[in-house]
Amino acid sequence: MKLGFIGLGNMGNNMAMNLLKTGHTLQVTDLRREAGANLEEAGAVWVDSAEQAVSGADFSFLSLPMPKDVEHVVLGDGGVLAGCQTGHTIVDMSTNAPTVVKSLAEQCRAKGVDFLDAPVSGGVRGARNASLAIMVGGDKAVYERCEPLLKAMGENVFHVGDIGAGNVAKLVNNMLAFIHMMGAAEALVLGTKAGVDPNVLWSIVKASSGGSFIWNAGTRAILRDRLAPTFTIDLARKDIGLATGLADELQVPLKMAKLAEELIAGYQQNGYAQEDVLATIKELEKLTGTTVRGTWRDPA
Ligand code: NAD
Repeated sequence: MKLGFIGLGNMGNNMAMNLLKTGHTLQVTDLRREAGANLEEAGAVWVDSAEQAVSGADFSFLSLPMPKDVEHVVLGDGGVLAGCQTGHTIVDMSTNAPTVVKSLAEQCRAKGVDFLDAPVSGGVRGARNASLAIMVGGDKAVYERCEPLLKAMGENVFHVGDIGAGNVAKLVNNMLAFIHMMGAAEALVLGTKAGVDPNVLWSIVKASSGGSFIWNAGTRAILRDRLAPTFTIDLARKDIGLATGLADELQVPLKMAKLAEELIAGYQQNGYAQEDVLATIKELEKLTGTTVRGTWRDPA
């Protein structure tokens, strides 16, 4: 088969590399030419537009920052709909608004093109190791055609329901993860300021009722001071805003998520927009005169 991949950033580059390993022809593009260099070396074909990336392709995959980027890439001049043939399937793996993917799917259907929303969880490491969770919304038969390709990128692939359902699951997951990240940072700084060695605190919570995936992996990254921007505050602001927007639409009162949104929006305006969401711990360290980063000791 011939496949297209559009958006070769932190996530997309790694996901495209895993798709390439399936042996299908892969046409790739991004606004940044350099983002495709390693894929080209591995055998992918670089092209200069989304329209060319989907030319002759059976499936295309998108991993783009914002809902408006996906709309532009699908509907705009030189975009996917301009270049693909009838029977083509677009798989949007970006985190997107359920309303946006529903509208895109409708516009694609009118042109004989299928559309799935298939956002992912598991971060850059999951994208690299092909161990992502992938949550898919859309027609079941279309999903089944696509499943082997999705399994090349993720270990846990779910068909959630109709179009948009993948993003509902993703937004709920991320909302919970951000609430937890903000709480974990506060817990770490409070315990440390009160005199407990942060490294010891990490082991205790890990073995106790406050422990979680975020605590185990995220808090460890903070202690190791490994906070390269693999998931930026800009993207976190998008996700939490989409979750609270969905809640407003459905009149579900979310107090915890709105507080996390307020904190994240504050960090975004306060110089952290392009930093990793976990790097916001620096602000709490500064405010409290407490150091937690760089205190990691490998367990004996
Ligand atoms: P990123 O900013 O690293 O990559 C996005 C890429 O899209 C960039 O290379 C950019 O140049 C490219 N791009 C933007 N507009 C384009 C256009 N019009 N045409 C072609 N290319 C274009 O973002 P990321 O971290 O890889 O995230 C991608 C998506 O995955 C987002 O929707 C994000 O919310 C989601 N996501 C990210 C993570 C993570 O840990 N980073 C985890 C799960 C989901």
